[in-house]
Amino acid sequence: MTVLVINSGSSSIKYQLVDPESGDAIAVGLVEQIGEVSSRVKHTYNGVKHEFEQSLADHGEGLRFVLELFESVGPNLSEAGIVAVGHRVVQGGKHFDGPTLITEDVRNVIEELAPLAPLHNPPNLRGIDVARDLLDVPHVAVFDTAFFQTLPEEAARYALNREVADLYGVRRYGAHGTSHQYVSQKAAEWTGRDDLKQIVLHLGNGASVSAVVNGEAVDTSMGLTPLEGLVMGTRTGDIDPAVIFHLSRVGGMSIDEIDDLFNKKSGVKGLAGENDMRAVWAMADSGDENAREALDIYIHRLVKYIGSYAAVMGGLDVITFTAGIGENDDLVRAEVLERLAPFGLTIDPEVNSERGDHIRRISTDESSVTVLVIPTNEELAIARQAMDVVATLA
Ligand code: AMP
Repeated sequence: MTVLVINSGSSSIKYQLVDPESGDAIAVGLVEQIGEVSSRVKHTYNGVKHEFEQSLADHGEGLRFVLELFESVGPNLSEAGIVAVGHRVVQGGKHFDGPTLITEDVRNVIEELAPLAPLHNPPNLRGIDVARDLLDVPHVAVFDTAFFQTLPEEAARYALNREVADLYGVRRYGAHGTSHQYVSQKAAEWTGRDDLKQIVLHLGNGASVSAVVNGEAVDTSMGLTPLEGLVMGTRTGDIDPAVIFHLSRVGGMSIDEIDDLFNKKSGVKGLAGENDMRAVWAMADSGDENAREALDIYIHRLVKYIGSYAAVMGGLDVITFTAGIGENDDLVRAEVLERLAPFGLTIDPEVNSERGDHIRRISTDESSVTVLVIPTNEELAIARQAMDVVATLA
């Protein structure tokens, strides 16, 4: 049995055909530049990557092209035993606390939630609509916010005027929840304990941290949108909201310009000129002071969140690093953990510098906190959650 996992963006469709039991990705692909003169499609099956340039006017044409590839290049979806499509949906608001079978009502709620995630929910919905038209199997929505529905009100509610906040649905919904859930469950399996106080650091181009107690999220760094929290590839993370007033009143900038500045031109890129950490380290090594300062700011913010979440949870058993930077950047890990040495955290430099797709413990036996590197796999998590929903239909 397999599940087709779809992550539909504004001009792209990422997909994977996953065997939820073995965890294997049977075919992996990406359609990019949808709506442009020439769209690009990559489809990998049996270790062979097939690439195409094709004019694809919209998501419907994009997905139709992908389904033809499953016929011509393989694998044939029926022969591969497709039982469901799992859709990544960024914003589920307060409505969804787990994977949900997509009915007409559910799709309409996702549409109604668009004002809370204007960049993400509309393209997610486009993917849902075309896939439901083309593939006659159950479709399941897996929400990036669902894992954070357990946040206590003290963590989820901003100290914003209650009437205004409630009228406009302003609260902390979090994001990257599928990854935080998957990784925290893996950490519990790895340690053989489910009574853990955990911090999960999802450090990719987007970055977020969560505090998880006994498997339930109690706090997270992303808020109403993914802008809040850690320093990210191109996002500011936490910033005094009065900076917006200042840039508007003194700088004469429009709301859209400030939105673009905070989301796309700030973070590590806005500080160092580059957002790929490999390039930033190389620049810092060659004496670029802005690059070194960007790393310092990035690491300072991480240390600050780890300390505050340990305090919020009243203790800390496990820290886990995941996603592009968390899994691969041993220098970031080393610098963060060195700063925590006064709290008894000790790291094994040799294991820390290991590369690979395996789960590893980078702390020593003596360390006060277990520190793990766990590769995230959001597609597999979505496929498994979709299967759970399908199982309830039988
Ligand atoms: P993600 O969003 O999880 O795909 O992560 C993407 C980011 O991971 C890139 O922008 C890089 O900054 C970072 N990254 C990927 N590979 C490495 C590596 N080998 N060393 C350091 N950073 C890396």
